[in-house]
Amino acid sequence: MRYIIHLTFKCNLDCEYCYITKSNKTLTLETAKNIIDFIFKYMPSGEKIEILFTGGEPLIEFELLKQIMYLIKLQNSLENRNIKFSVITNGTIFSKEIKKFLSENNFSLCISCDGPPDIHDIMRCFPDKNKSSHLVERTLKEAVNIFPELSVHSIYHPATFKRLHHVVEYIASIGVKNIYLNPDFSARWTKRDADVLPSIYNEIAKWYLTYSQKNNRLYINLIDNKMEVIQRGGYVSSDKCQPGIKALAFSPSGDIYPCERFITEFSNKENCIGDIYNGIRLERIIFKNNELNFQEKCVFCDIKNFCMNWCCCSNYLTSGFYNRTGPFLCASEKTAINTALNIYKTLKGNLSQSVFI
Ligand code: SF4
Ligand code: SF4
Ligand code: SF4
Repeated sequence: MRYIIHLTFKCNLDCEYCYITKSNKTLTLETAKNIIDFIFKYMPSGEKIEILFTGGEPLIEFELLKQIMYLIKLQNSLENRNIKFSVITNGTIFSKEIKKFLSENNFSLCISCDGPPDIHDIMRCFPDKNKSSHLVERTLKEAVNIFPELSVHSIYHPATFKRLHHVVEYIASIGVKNIYLNPDFSARWTKRDADVLPSIYNEIAKWYLTYSQKNNRLYINLIDNKMEVIQRGGYVSSDKCQPGIKALAFSPSGDIYPCERFITEFSNKENCIGDIYNGIRLERIIFKNNELNFQEKCVFCDIKNFCMNWCCCSNYLTSGFYNRTGPFLCASEKTAINTALNIYKTLKGNLSQSVFI
């Protein structure tokens, strides 16, 4: 079960593709206490639990994060729980005190970085247009020694995706072992963009194979996640996030959303499924149908079992429907699956059983 707590809608950056409507709205300590009580009251037993702190930029509210961790430690049932704490940050705020606190509390750290400075700074600047890459690079270099499982989330965009292999090479050169590449779903992707994806993913594949053959462990979601799924014969229901059932995201007001990417504090609350005071309105969890993809193109698709067409959030952002996959996402999934299959065959020999061909 994943719980995502938005500490604030404030952010010191002004990334062009940001989906957060920024404001000064910040969690109060009282609401934070109610969220923690809500989480521990309904937390399922016997499951791995992740509590992720995000924003805006959550480390702007570092003092609040410390206070929330104190509240969590007061929970009676804490010791019997298998809880992982994580924070996702833009990497521009990373003091000695923050490092020490996150390390002492066994946080998993995820830093957003779009690649080398000339790529990163296209989208991820401060409001005055000053660049942020030098700060992020410094944070990555410091963090990788303290957090061996450090992960980097990198967003690619029509203006940057043709250099995706440079993104991977740069992040890996810093020593990061977990790289998550995701498209900016809200961007205006064209058919021409989709058509060049195979050559782009192929560049990454060639580099990945050389890297792997030197026995360096590296996880790239586009490749490794798909290889795991291919090995298992397809996604199983426990892989699927089931927003609103296996994931709950809390806004600074205490509203509850089925996925962090749907959160807003403003007028468009159509994806809100309840709040910490009145509970979850089950009828709002339309997302429980997320295992179904009604599009004909998916029903008859040979690779549907390996496709993430069940991510209702990506679907919504790319097509406007929870259960319809937009054309670029479909092309990206097809390309990622084929790329991973080719790498799998190269690394592990021919598949012993038919996967989908
Ligand atoms: S760092 Fe994150 S929250 Fe801040 S502007 Fe960029 S995408 Fe938005
Ligand atoms: S690859 Fe495209 S058509 Fe096939 S299941 Fe995925 S979204 Fe549907
Ligand atoms: S709906 Fe998609 S983005 Fe949201 S938690 Fe599930 S897999 Fe992640």
